Amino acid sequence: MAFADTLPSSSAAAAPTTGIAPSLDAFWMPFTPNRKFKQSPRLIVGGEGLHYDLADGRRVLDAIAGLWCVNAGHRNPRISAAMKAQIDVLDYASNFQIGHPAAFELAQRLARFAPEGMNHVFFTNSGSESVDTALKIALAYHRARGDAGRYRLIGRERAYHGVGFGGISVGGIGRQRSTFGPLLNGVDHLPHTHDLVRNAFSRGEPEHGIDKADALEALLALHDASTVAAVIVEPVAGSTGVLPPPRGYLKRLREICDRHGVLLIFDEVITGFGRLGANFAADLFGVTPDIITAAKGLTNGAVPMGAVLMRDAIHDAFMQGSVGAIELSHGYTYSGHPLACAAAMATLDAYTEDGLIAQAAALSPFFEDAIHGLRGLPGVIDIRNTGLLGGIELQAWADGPGTHAQAVAQQCVELGVLVRSVGDTIALSPPLTIGREHIEQIVDALRTAIAQTARPTD
Ligand code: PLP
Repeated sequence: MAFADTLPSSSAAAAPTTGIAPSLDAFWMPFTPNRKFKQSPRLIVGGEGLHYDLADGRRVLDAIAGLWCVNAGHRNPRISAAMKAQIDVLDYASNFQIGHPAAFELAQRLARFAPEGMNHVFFTNSGSESVDTALKIALAYHRARGDAGRYRLIGRERAYHGVGFGGISVGGIGRQRSTFGPLLNGVDHLPHTHDLVRNAFSRGEPEHGIDKADALEALLALHDASTVAAVIVEPVAGSTGVLPPPRGYLKRLREICDRHGVLLIFDEVITGFGRLGANFAADLFGVTPDIITAAKGLTNGAVPMGAVLMRDAIHDAFMQGSVGAIELSHGYTYSGHPLACAAAMATLDAYTEDGLIAQAAALSPFFEDAIHGLRGLPGVIDIRNTGLLGGIELQAWADGPGTHAQAVAQQCVELGVLVRSVGDTIALSPPLTIGREHIEQIVDALRTAIAQTARPTD
């Protein structure tokens, strides 16, 4: 019997204490209201290209690319073939004091793919690990240069940088921090850049808000700039509701960091690998950080992998000590896993040789026009976009933050389109392989779902 057949129907026996069917009880799902989900579970049993197959037999258009990661489409043949070939040759090899060729080759290819001068790569297994690794590299870099007084880290309100202790410390989403008590010392936050009064319905980079970058000068003055190691931002904040940077904002952050010897880290876990119609957000916005964190689209989500890319000067600062000594006491059993390397190289081929990033860039204006066509619908208070990343913000309902967007997202599934609700925003991040007709399908579903769920107060 297939597992899906064991799922509870309304008459199925439930576990006495929780009301959850025994077959669903063991898996504690991440970032999920487990008890609610398990009363009416929705399971994905297959995927191909732009679509998912659900356990109930329906096929839905995946407008979120899994979880902002399947940029080259589900079961991309190039990637599947490369993984199958790799597993038959080498399943696992450590990269601790021994290595395997694919990790070196992938690092070299990523260096070519990255902005000019970022020629070194440290491999991780996720975005969270990339963020914590990047923060540790930033702190250790200053120490390696004899500047151990630089220990502070600056993040931003509303930021999502994964779930490691470093990531939630520099992150700015209250619940993800307060659940766990005291976090890293020496962390402060820039103000977020969301401004519904001045910037609602901006297309691409909003016009107002470059001044929000000046808060960095204020924080540096407050803490003494010589104590600050690094600033980390998502170039376009994703999980907090898709917030493109105000025009000139990132450049100004770069200038301030340069003036004070502070490292600038771009968390490109979502924005990397073509999501914005460029290799990285750094390329699109013409601002090169010192460190880039990546994951998700790196392997098209086919197998976990993350990476930290850095400027030569950062890497080189570690290479000055005695030969034979470990330059950075950090690493993961699966850093540069052979299967992940094979997947990542095939994914890079898809992005470049199959022209997916160029395709995303070409389609972005159509995507922008299409989603901004939802303006004026009841309860739609803002629409934001960059590349193939979009956010439609809805008026919060009185019964709780996020409930409006959740209702719309739920209704979209009924209409055959999977979107994601993040707070009060519907996030869109379709595979880069999408066509105009699919974008129209997504927008039609949203239009209908917003109308069907509208309340008189919207
Ligand atoms: N950083 C950013 C900007 C993200 O959006 C995410 C995940 O969505 C992460 C880090 C964490 O990545 P992971 O879930 O792979 O640990």
